[in-house]
Amino acid sequence: MEVGVLAVQGDFAEHIAILKGLGVVGREVRLPQHLEKMGGLIIPGGESTTLSRLMSLYGLREPVTRMACQGKAVWGTCAGMIMMAHEITEEDPVPLRIMDIGVHRNAFGRQVDSFEQDLDIACFGETPFHGVFIRAPAIVRVGKNVDVLASLPGGEPVAVQQGNLLATAFHPELTNDARFHRHFLGLLPVPSE
Ligand code: GLN
Repeated sequence: MEVGVLAVQGDFAEHIAILKGLGVVGREVRLPQHLEKMGGLIIPGGESTTLSRLMSLYGLREPVTRMACQGKAVWGTCAGMIMMAHEITEEDPVPLRIMDIGVHRNAFGRQVDSFEQDLDIACFGETPFHGVFIRAPAIVRVGKNVDVLASLPGGEPVAVQQGNLLATAFHPELTNDARFHRHFLGLLPVPSE
């Protein structure tokens, strides 16, 4: 099995390593043709303004948007989540608008205010998921067709899903816990004959 991992900037190598542990090839996506035959794409964490510029430069915005609309699985972590949002509270970057959420960048403060938090996620069972938040964005609006998978103790949503689309404000790729990656693989469309 193969899934795409956007590899223009950010921590794509960590995603690819976790996928490898699950027996899945994470194919580095830098150009639109790398998306061909991909049933899913991970947009990693990094710097959303840079991600956005490079996606425009390499002509990736339109094909990634099309993938999401075609029911393929797309998952954004942190900066990747910012890119998936319908709207953000800042002017930069211009998000892809593929998921019905509103996002506020750097909502928890600067790099020094990064934090870790165990998250209870019902569909993952009893063991909490260790959330690593690095200059994390907040989800400030959740559309009516969007499910909240995890929230902070104060109630702020930090993992959301809308059908084939998944977004996390934190970085599951920076842990040894592959449950989010396995969950994402479960969203891939069943290949047609
Ligand atoms: N703060 C970054 C941004 O706005 C995201 C940080 C991250 O992906 N860890 O793009």
